Amino acid sequence: MTFRTLDQAGALSAKRVLVRVDFNVPMQDGRITDDTRLRAALPTIRLLAERGAKVALLAHFDRPKGKRVPTMSLRPIVDPLSGLLGQTVAFADDCVGAEAKSAVDRLKPGGVALLENVRFHAGEEANEPAFARELAANGDLYVNDAFSAAHRAHASTEGVAHLLPAYAGLAMQRELEQLERVLGKPRRPLMGIVGGAKISTKLDLLKTLVTRLDRLAIGGGLANTFLLAQGWAIGASHAEKAMAQTAREIEHIAKRNHCELLLPTDVLVATSLEPGAPTFVRRHGEVRDDERILDAGPETLATLIRTLNNTETLIWNGPLGVFETPPFDRGTVGTAKAAAALTREAKLLSVAGGGDTVAALNAAGVAGDFTFVSAAGGAFLEWMAGKILPGVAALEPTEVKVTG
Ligand code: ADP
Ligand code: MG
Repeated sequence: MTFRTLDQAGALSAKRVLVRVDFNVPMQDGRITDDTRLRAALPTIRLLAERGAKVALLAHFDRPKGKRVPTMSLRPIVDPLSGLLGQTVAFADDCVGAEAKSAVDRLKPGGVALLENVRFHAGEEANEPAFARELAANGDLYVNDAFSAAHRAHASTEGVAHLLPAYAGLAMQRELEQLERVLGKPRRPLMGIVGGAKISTKLDLLKTLVTRLDRLAIGGGLANTFLLAQGWAIGASHAEKAMAQTAREIEHIAKRNHCELLLPTDVLVATSLEPGAPTFVRRHGEVRDDERILDAGPETLATLIRTLNNTETLIWNGPLGVFETPPFDRGTVGTAKAAAALTREAKLLSVAGGGDTVAALNAAGVAGDFTFVSAAGGAFLEWMAGKILPGVAALEPTEVKVTG
């Protein structure tokens, strides 16, 4: 994959630079619980500011579905970002129109403004040309530093890149270079671990992933759909029952491609997530109607760790349980610690990605031990599955700009 980088951007002094960042950080009660994504954007913002650009940040938060949803405002990001950056960040109440224009125009060279959630406009996810033009009106250049949103062809990730000279930011560049370095020609056996909660989006990717991996462990909410397909009763667990057929199809493709599938053999259940609620280890046929599968069981964890011991390269997206609520972090933390230790001993190359996955690795204190931690979840899986990422494709050097 080839893409234009910031060292090709020429003079930036007093230029208005629109920078697409990923500030979709985990929040609880209006407070950021993990600021990895803010930190990831700092090098690009600093570089542009030091070169005298006027930096206008574009970002989405959550899924407001084209409407203004006050609880999904980016405003709570302003203070933490100002603190990390060491300079006051201005805020515009809208990402297009008069509000945005005046916030960008008011910036001095080196100044930074955050524009409100791009997904407050339906034109963003629909990639409407008119909306992309409105965004582009406030920039002389466009920089995409949001690798994690690059698998989406949205106005702020793709549309606008065709309207302005467009470059990859430092974080985007690093992501692509590291993924290529570790996973371009991976050392085998190559193992995938995929968990988490975004079942329908991830299931489709598994069809391709199993053709590239030597083994795939499935965990988290995602595993429930597979267990269901295997005839487990899963009680009140999070699952997409309609997708059991897809799960069977994936098992088929895996078998044909000699990819070993590792499904949970035991699980940890509870009837609620309340602190102190009793938990039980259950196996096939043992989950009761009112119980929810919330983590991998001890035997499953032991199998995972044993398998990691004869794996050369690991790619991981998606927590294995509801890790935010102990004790349902055991599967995720146990696996993370094992992968980290093997990586420290140079026995494993480990790449992990995903907003919640990275938060879990940070909480376990092992993110720094992984070979590479990607800020991206979906984009990382799509890259691994060999899909073209529209946000990256739009940064290709051959792209001819239509301006005016
Ligand atoms: P990532 O952000 O790393 O790509 P996802 O967003 O797909 O991961 O999934 C993360 C979420 O999955 C976490 O909030 C976690 O609580 C949830 N999760 C994991 N296992 C389960 C489960 N068994 N049941 C319900 N939710 C789960
Ligand atoms: Mg997530």
